[in-house]
Amino acid sequence: MTTSSDAASARPKDEDRARRLIGAHRGDEPGPLFLCVSSLHGNEPAGIEALKLVIESLREQKCEIRGDIVGLRGNLSALEIGERFVDEDLNRVWQRDRVVAILQSLRADGPALTEPPLPMVGSVELGEQRELLAAIREEVQRARGPVIVIDLHTTSAESAPFTTLGDTLQNRALARQLPIPVVLGLEEQIDGAMLQYFDQLGWRSIGIEGGAHSAPESVSAHEDALWLLFAATGVVPEVRIPDLPIRWERLAERAHGLPHVVDIRYRHGVSEEDRFRMKPGFKNFDRARRGDELGTDAKGIVLAPSSGRVFLPLYQSKGDDGFFLVRRLNPAWLRVSKSLRRARADRVAGWLPGVRVHPDRSDAVVLSAVARNRFVMGLLHLLGYNARKESGRLLMVRRRETPTVDPDLDLRV
Ligand SMILES: [Zn+2]
Repeated sequence: MTTSSDAASARPKDEDRARRLIGAHRGDEPGPLFLCVSSLHGNEPAGIEALKLVIESLREQKCEIRGDIVGLRGNLSALEIGERFVDEDLNRVWQRDRVVAILQSLRADGPALTEPPLPMVGSVELGEQRELLAAIREEVQRARGPVIVIDLHTTSAESAPFTTLGDTLQNRALARQLPIPVVLGLEEQIDGAMLQYFDQLGWRSIGIEGGAHSAPESVSAHEDALWLLFAATGVVPEVRIPDLPIRWERLAERAHGLPHVVDIRYRHGVSEEDRFRMKPGFKNFDRARRGDELGTDAKGIVLAPSSGRVFLPLYQSKGDDGFFLVRRLNPAWLRVSKSLRRARADRVAGWLPGVRVHPDRSDAVVLSAVARNRFVMGLLHLLGYNARKESGRLLMVRRRETPTVDPDLDLRV
């Protein structure tokens, strides 16, 4: 029999985990594990509400599903105070060394981390990350199929719903199940996002931005998107999904007139000293022309460096992305990149000028200064190379399509 559980039914000694668990619905039939994480940012509770509604509906219907649907809260401490984070942004801390150290402590069943080499020892988010990883690891070890991660967020500006993803073909295919814009390239602009880690494990994963933090439509956007994804992956039978066509229409309506796929062309990074203030009134995807005034900072007026659509304008006190500019991506580029990646054309990457195959990694190439130009970088992106890591004068670029899973990062052990 399919079963549901929630925080109230957990054992008292697992109090921490119970607080993290929004709910779970498990099928008799094996199938994918849908790991739905909400509120990695504590001022974004809409995803929690959506997951409660979805899991409650499955429970009420006693719905038979294939696989497991699990909802987890991300940053409990930040949720309590309604802030994006306490000490560190929990969606910027998933660098390899840090995850490896946390996993080592979990595997040893050791105490919370108190020793270097980790940065920010004693940070509230280090504890949150450890507990979240522990909960995810537990689910993964009992999974009966492939893992799919959905990361639910909202934005400080008013926004149509959209998805973000690491640009792999399997992530694109999952995101295209939703009638809302797909934003490519955000993952490359930021370091240490949670989904970057899951991409390295070869899992399918997408982030869903439901709309503005406090807008009621953000809850329904998340709810609609979750149901559509459950249907598309066959985890929940379509006939058991309440109002499926209406949900599709509602999401599509919110994204009406927007491009299907955009990519990031520019990031305006800011720090506290910059005293950056975004000009009020921008919604996500509003058009801007080169030279338009977008905000002010300590040096004066901040202008758009090129034409495009304004994306993630910063309207909250915390955060180091002032705004981004995105442009519609030509559908031909998407088709060409799909064909090239399927044909494993990446094997010619080492022939490009200034590019050589990484000596120790089959999924990476190393670029010298001469190769760091639009042509070579664009070609590498087409071939599926997009995860960048600077090391002195060299740049390592990893291909995400077929990751070689690093045993130190593996959650199944
Ligand atoms: Zn967020």
